[in-house]
Amino acid sequence: MRKRKILLVNPWIEDFAAYDFWLKPLGLLYVGSFLKKLGIEVDLIDLMNRYDPLLQSEVTVPRDKFYGTGKFPHTVIPKPKILSFMPRRYKRYGMPEELFRKILREHRGEVGSAFVTSTLTYWYPGYFDTIRVIKEELDVPVFFGGFFVRNQPRIALNSGAYIFTKTDLRFLPRFLNDVLDWNIPETNIDWFTELSPAYELYQRIGYVVLLTTIGCPYRCTYCIAHRNWEKMKFKSPEKVIEEIETFSQMHGVKDIVFFDDAILISKERHFKPILRLILEKGLNKRLRFHLPNGIHARLLDDETAHLLYEANFKTIKLGYETSGKLQITTGGKVRDEDLVRASEILHKAGFTHNEVSAYIMINLPGQSPEDVTNAIDVCASVDIDFSVNEFTPIVGTDIWLDLVNSGRLTGLEDPLLLNNTVLPYWWNNMTYEQIHEVKEYAKNKKQELGWK
Ligand code: SF4
Repeated sequence: MRKRKILLVNPWIEDFAAYDFWLKPLGLLYVGSFLKKLGIEVDLIDLMNRYDPLLQSEVTVPRDKFYGTGKFPHTVIPKPKILSFMPRRYKRYGMPEELFRKILREHRGEVGSAFVTSTLTYWYPGYFDTIRVIKEELDVPVFFGGFFVRNQPRIALNSGAYIFTKTDLRFLPRFLNDVLDWNIPETNIDWFTELSPAYELYQRIGYVVLLTTIGCPYRCTYCIAHRNWEKMKFKSPEKVIEEIETFSQMHGVKDIVFFDDAILISKERHFKPILRLILEKGLNKRLRFHLPNGIHARLLDDETAHLLYEANFKTIKLGYETSGKLQITTGGKVRDEDLVRASEILHKAGFTHNEVSAYIMINLPGQSPEDVTNAIDVCASVDIDFSVNEFTPIVGTDIWLDLVNSGRLTGLEDPLLLNNTVLPYWWNNMTYEQIHEVKEYAKNKKQELGWK
């Protein structure tokens, strides 16, 4: 029987650009906790941890930009053939291959298998390279899970790993037993509400990312979040506070990041109690908090804004996406007046454009460049910052289905072509020039306002 120890691996990112905007493999860390609970030993190699002492001893890691975020070390690699038309350099971000191989060799004979996670679908060459290197260095079965695998199982199989396509970890024991001939008992543990991500597997990190909820009750046509989870789940406020205290002390970090999709849902019994506990325990005096995932402007109220300010929140992103008629046709999550109202509430509480900004999408089907510049103007007029991000059609979303049904996508595109950096070079929606112009508009607006 194989050794009852599993090596968890957070794989490389391969893309034209990548930035450590608080990226942590939370799903993998929950898998780690789950396995430990079942009596399986685990170890972790996070190829994307800029704070890894071994990485820092081997390469120069770019310095932090703000609150623990920063650029990854990288090497230029050949582009996948299908992207040969792209006039940009393709890179592998994260730990150098030689160091990865050296660490893997130290695990030879020590682990019975490896488990690799995944996120964005168009990063799959990085996942495949990671799996290939593991297989070359360790003679063990490799398991492959995460969002890419669930979204694109047929392509994921080409990695040569065993694919795990569930979000419910209760399926994991049977899956591992079948391949490894183990006898892990079945369990009813609810991985999200009962466990915490296994941050103890790290030697050093720069920030802690947490989830206090999973799921979202909204149905935005461009988003997959609501299809990932059958219903919303909430972690108890006490458990959230325990995680904040434990992991911030364990790693001596100052920055706590909430990555929820819909943290303001049921705020009276969920987020407000969390904020009050942060204040009661004085955590706001030693920690900074961040909400980078686009909170719902319509759900914000005066008391929440006041609590956020008192609790020392330094980053608040509002999901705005676009101005114009698409606000309604893509799901009606937010309108201009919601954003204006939210900005007034946040300013009244004490926030400025240094902490508050809105996400705006560009290149949505049916969106005009003016919809985007109008959205920029709305943000500027109410003194909140903004970032313009290129749309990508995620397979399985309503918007993707519409595009396939109307013949604007075949539905069989290689995920690499759906990368938001790549789309404007081949897809007949907004042109590269139009997108560039709007981005220049955004840049100039910020300069006019004296923000950048
Ligand atoms: S975009 Fe936000 S509100 Fe809409 S479904 Fe996704 S997570 Fe929910």
